[in-house]
Amino acid sequence: MIEVKLHLGYSGFCLAKEHHTIKGGGNIDVKFNALWALIQHPSKGYILFDTGYTQRFFKATKKYPNKLYANLTKVVLKESEEVKQQMKKNKIECKDIKHIVISHFHADHVGGLKDFENAQIHVSKAALDQVNKLPKLLAFSKGILKELLPNNLNSRVSIIEENSLISEDSIFNNKYDLFGDGSLIIHNLTGHAAGQIGLLLETKKNKYFLVADACWNIKAILENKLPSPIVRLFFDSWKDYKKSILKIKKFHEENSSVIIVPTHCAITTDKLVSNTFFSNDL
Ligand SMILES: [Zn+2]
Repeated sequence: MIEVKLHLGYSGFCLAKEHHTIKGGGNIDVKFNALWALIQHPSKGYILFDTGYTQRFFKATKKYPNKLYANLTKVVLKESEEVKQQMKKNKIECKDIKHIVISHFHADHVGGLKDFENAQIHVSKAALDQVNKLPKLLAFSKGILKELLPNNLNSRVSIIEENSLISEDSIFNNKYDLFGDGSLIIHNLTGHAAGQIGLLLETKKNKYFLVADACWNIKAILENKLPSPIVRLFFDSWKDYKKSILKIKKFHEENSSVIIVPTHCAITTDKLVSNTFFSNDL
């Protein structure tokens, strides 16, 4: 694989009950950090994977029906934590982001999307189709707030299945080489959300598999501890979700040195995240 540099950051969090997120968990609140990644590619420059929460979440959920979303997930975010503000602090201009890979369209992953007007947005076909089909007023029921998406989304998207180099994969059926240079490999991890994807990359030190919400806690992979069945209601397909978990498990068995990074698994991400870009030397 062509090596890239990786930085991981948080832009806010929401609170969830531990026993909802993992079987056998306690009746306590746990932080669901909105993780995002900044990748430095040798020729494509800076690339974002997901974009965290922004203040726009609060505006978008002021009124019903979207308010129902905010009532279910209590979001905590300081303005200084937004990706845009962190970029400013680290002297990278938003306009210099030319590519964003979106794992799925839930609000904690696309909150900052409107801040990057020059970026091409890489998404799976199923994720985009769902966004386009859902009426604005019903979108919240699938975890999507259309107010967070750029008006020109459709003219800026690049559909992964149509524009990447596709080859066969023994676990994931297909693998999608985003730029055709082996630097960013995308796998389909659908289930939690329609067309959810994960991103595999390699730095000088390690390989990372950013699996977004395909599992919420690394224990789902290591100890078979799935979320409570109650969350099925909010998942696009529980059946596909379980299939994707099994694929990640198999991947882990065959590639145990690759660090699996679930977006909301703080035990995994707390030690990887920093405020100063690339300071953790991942
Ligand atoms: Zn999420």
